[in-house]
Amino acid sequence: MENPFLSALLLADSLAYLAGSGMGLARWSMRQSRTWLLLGYLGIGFVTNLGMHLLRANPSHLISAAWLGCVAQIMIFLTLSLNILQKPIKLFSLGTGWALASLACSLFFPGKPLVSILCSVGCLGLTAVVGYWIHQNQKRSSNQRTTHLTIYWFISASLFTIGNMGVFWQQLGWGLPLQTMAALLIAYTFGSYRLPPLRQVSRQILGYLLISTPVALLLWSSLIGMQFAEEVWPSMGRFMVAVILAILLVSLIRFLFFRAPDLVNWVIPVTTYDFNRILREYSIGISNITEMNLLATVSIGLISEAIEINRGYLFEVEYEVGPGQNIYRLHGIGGMGEEQTNDGVLDSKGPIAETLKTNRQVLTQQAIINQSRLQKADPTELSWFQQLDMDIFIPIHAKEDWIGLLALGPKTSGYEYSDADITLLITLADQLSLALQNTRLVSSLMRVNNDFRRAYAAMEQSNRQLQQAVSQLEQIDRTKTDFISVSSHELRTPLTVMRGYTEMMLEDPVLENNSLYMKMLNGIHSGILRLHEIVESMLDVASIDARSLHLHKEDTSLLIILRSVYERFRSALDERKQTLQIENLRDLPNIKADPVALEKVFRQLVSNAIKYTPDGGTITVLGAPVSVGHSEFPQGGVEIIISDTGIGIAPENLELIFKKFYQTGKVSRHSTGKTKFKGSGPGLGLAIVKGIVEAHGGKIWVESAGYDEEKLPGSHFHIIFPIQTPLTNEKP
Ligand code: ADP
Repeated sequence: MENPFLSALLLADSLAYLAGSGMGLARWSMRQSRTWLLLGYLGIGFVTNLGMHLLRANPSHLISAAWLGCVAQIMIFLTLSLNILQKPIKLFSLGTGWALASLACSLFFPGKPLVSILCSVGCLGLTAVVGYWIHQNQKRSSNQRTTHLTIYWFISASLFTIGNMGVFWQQLGWGLPLQTMAALLIAYTFGSYRLPPLRQVSRQILGYLLISTPVALLLWSSLIGMQFAEEVWPSMGRFMVAVILAILLVSLIRFLFFRAPDLVNWVIPVTTYDFNRILREYSIGISNITEMNLLATVSIGLISEAIEINRGYLFEVEYEVGPGQNIYRLHGIGGMGEEQTNDGVLDSKGPIAETLKTNRQVLTQQAIINQSRLQKADPTELSWFQQLDMDIFIPIHAKEDWIGLLALGPKTSGYEYSDADITLLITLADQLSLALQNTRLVSSLMRVNNDFRRAYAAMEQSNRQLQQAVSQLEQIDRTKTDFISVSSHELRTPLTVMRGYTEMMLEDPVLENNSLYMKMLNGIHSGILRLHEIVESMLDVASIDARSLHLHKEDTSLLIILRSVYERFRSALDERKQTLQIENLRDLPNIKADPVALEKVFRQLVSNAIKYTPDGGTITVLGAPVSVGHSEFPQGGVEIIISDTGIGIAPENLELIFKKFYQTGKVSRHSTGKTKFKGSGPGLGLAIVKGIVEAHGGKIWVESAGYDEEKLPGSHFHIIFPIQTPLTNEKP
């Protein structure tokens, strides 16, 4: 005897198991032990149903097959439950005990109600145990995903158990479909990354019911209407009813499609959001932020409020050109939930980077797990995304560049991200792009600014050190000046005494006759005179340094002074076969000056000219008036130029030679002689000259084509003294 309903049912069940296996295979890439268990469970379902279809002619075989399949499925279901609920596998022995007991009973008491009772009680017991574990899991876990998983698992377990009861009590008509439904639900539960919350499922079911129930009622009533119409109007009755039905159906469906969502919302409400308000608040919220971390926190905060999530993170994306491959570096800036410390590194040519950068697509964790194209990505990329444990990833672009990534966790409601959510998020990401670019700009400006500040601080620091060094040097200089001043004063007195006594001895008639003593005395005397001069120079320098040079100004003729200087050096000039020419001094006006100091100036300059000019050279002293209106001497003045045909001065020394103790040559050249060729002195001469000239309000400088002992370019010392009216024209 063949039951066509049962036969169709078995075929349909087999097909359903096949489809379920397809869903299970969606997770094939994970290749976890639970994937194998699921496939085993579905496979047994498929084989059992197909076997029953083949054995449909023999009811007792059919029942035995159903019963065996049932026991095997229960065993695998139990193992799968242990795995998913993370229970120790040894609990499996519970199920094995029961399975063996029921197998033995069915062998010894085939077809007896005892077997059915044993099987049912055992099955119920096992479901109760699984139910208890689920309950425990629920209590412990705060994770949304686990919560959903356990709820779905519980529903599947219940359907499965009731279905099994049907089979055990030989009620295949409803037992098998329930079993199949449970199997499909299990496959779905298992295959989805995030399960829709029950509220969402109930809303969908309610929506279907609200539309399908009135339509079914209408169709049913139209069938009755047709019978009635045929009796009343045999020729056209049916047709008329069909027309009316079509019109009613169209109107009803139109009405239902518009109204059903409202009704669903009314019965099972969900929260909706105001797109424009969110966008407005978001752009205002992030517009003025210039700090990266704050931008991340505020923007994730605003997004989480808008679409109700409690985890999210913003990543900054940098393109890096590497030796082997170019990469995108995803650097966590901030957000909500756990701190993301590891940078993500994506191959720029990999499928994930391609989706986010080139295709500019929103990526979901579900897609990463399920799509074989994305599964080809580098395992480190996959595990980085998995460890983030976010649901959705929205790329942020600035023109051609990919600059950021928004990673958002599951919605608190448990709902999946809807199309509206994704549209909103893409718009928000566009807004965020502008803010992110601004922030990047500001932070690089700040970096530059900070570098600048640091450099400035370092400069100030070295400035301070420099100032300290300068003031230390000034202090040392003062001490030196004081020392020179004090020691010269101290030296001068004994020197004067010595000079006096030597002069007395030189004039002594007794000694005069002893030529040896006279020679020695002359040597001592000239030494004392030289010492005296040096001490005088040191005193001069000290008083110039201390700005305490006392000048006794009077109307002074430069010609007279220079003549006196000439007289003084006459023998030296003769000795060195040099000529000194004094030109144009006669017509120069007198100036108001200290004649003793001026004589010192010219003595020094002429002495230098003699020293640094080889034998046979010429020294010229040239006078020239400085006309009124001169930029530095508006009242006019006189200029004296002392030129020589000597070795000249190197350009770099033109100013330095006026510094005290400065000598351009080697110390070995040092000589006490005042006119010896290249015999440098203590290096005080020009410093004193400059000090005296400046104390008169004048100016001194030197010009020379360079230092050359062979070509002898010569030097030209220029001095300008101002004419101080009305004394200028006074005669001495
Ligand atoms: P010093 O006591 O060594 O002569 P000065 O102050 O008079 O010291 O001169 C400083 C330096 O200037 C000298 O050592 C010398 O090198 C250079 N100098 C001065 N006058 C002349 C000159 N007429 N020609 C070339 N070099 C000169």
